[in-house]
Amino acid sequence: MRITLCGAAGEVTGSGYLVETDRVRVLVDFGMFQGRRATDQRNRDLGPIEPNAVHAVVLTHAHLDHTGRLPLLVAKGFRGPIFATPATEEFMDLILADSAEIQEGDAARLTRVARRAGRRTVEPLYTRDDVRRVAPLVRRIGYEERREVAKGVTVRLFEAGHILGSGSIEMHAAGKTIVFSGDIGPNGLPFLRDPVRPPRADTLFLESTYGDRDHRSLDATVAELHEILERAVREKSIVLIPSFAIGRAQQMLFHIAELVRGGHIPDFPVYVDSPMAIEATRLYGKHQGLFDAEARSLARRGQFQEDLKNVRFLTTADESRRLNEIDGPAVVIAGSGMCNGGRILHHLKHHLWREETVVVFVGYQSEGTLGRALVTGSKVVAIYGERIRVAARIHTLGGFSAHAGRTELLGWADAAIGAGTRVVLTHGEDKPRAALAEAIRERFRIDATLPARGDVIEL
Ligand SMILES: [Zn+2]
Repeated sequence: MRITLCGAAGEVTGSGYLVETDRVRVLVDFGMFQGRRATDQRNRDLGPIEPNAVHAVVLTHAHLDHTGRLPLLVAKGFRGPIFATPATEEFMDLILADSAEIQEGDAARLTRVARRAGRRTVEPLYTRDDVRRVAPLVRRIGYEERREVAKGVTVRLFEAGHILGSGSIEMHAAGKTIVFSGDIGPNGLPFLRDPVRPPRADTLFLESTYGDRDHRSLDATVAELHEILERAVREKSIVLIPSFAIGRAQQMLFHIAELVRGGHIPDFPVYVDSPMAIEATRLYGKHQGLFDAEARSLARRGQFQEDLKNVRFLTTADESRRLNEIDGPAVVIAGSGMCNGGRILHHLKHHLWREETVVVFVGYQSEGTLGRALVTGSKVVAIYGERIRVAARIHTLGGFSAHAGRTELLGWADAAIGAGTRVVLTHGEDKPRAALAEAIRERFRIDATLPARGDVIEL
């Protein structure tokens, strides 16, 4: 049996593993490369994958960097089943539709530029039509259910605590147990259950996003958010929160509502300027069965409906534009989380140059994104080809991460690692990945494998 790394090897995007036994080929995740330049070609390049020769796909969770190339796979001939939890299925629909819209928009814009220069039309990576062909292939799989996804390959998904519906995968094939961590959440996130410990594995594919550090505690992070919002209210600031639409946006609403409910900050307008975050919030309501005990009890009391009364959800572009004229204090939550697209760009363009503006980063900012430029202190940035001075106060709150920190990763891996376990570190940039490898050497006396894209792990 062999497993080829299709991506997320030495970086955090493009997750995908091609598992090949002597009888079948199964893909675990098939995500998009994001954040760096010249990724379009990398996204189009399917490497060793022949779509019509793949028997099945199994998904850890819905995020674009884990599902984003499925429409391409289907467009190129894949017709097998795609196994996903029901929540993953619904979040994926949302994410892929949004992605196709962005691809089509980008291609149309690049085509206009290309035509003026006498060059050829630019084709989108995939279209909304391609995305519509993915849904009929999805087969729902519940947590803790054992299912043969292709001849001789059995999987079980167990709670990963990363976003609603996320799972880690235990796979049995050719007499081996392989564990794919997928993205693992930290303990104690609102709404989500904590990650379930993995079984003992022959080979463990472990994410390493934060392999070099522990996050600040959630309590300390919420306390910092409290301070920021208190000052913002006092100074009547506009607070921009670039946020992923799924998971992080709902978490921010949760914490803000909690601060208001507790009387820590006065009631003030909160805008969610993202059709996708609005739809995701609705899906949170629908999948309350996946909530942890605390959120289930709040839901039973009707607390979430009560909290959401203070939130204005903006769907149309006109409503979004009108936000340019509002007075503070106000919070605007908008995508994209790394500021590499979406409505947040307009708000940044209109507000970054003002000293009274506050920008709060609540998620990971990968290399090459506008978000990374802002958190690392750039004084001038380019937005829509315009140079914008950065005078706003920029805060980075690392403690909201949906990824486990180093200590939690090691604790989780402890259950999977036994005598002879091979550990392969993925889904991390070089520095955190190397640091986690060092920690694994110290704690388990194992030399972890740090593969590059395209590498093959023979089992
Ligand atoms: Zn993820």
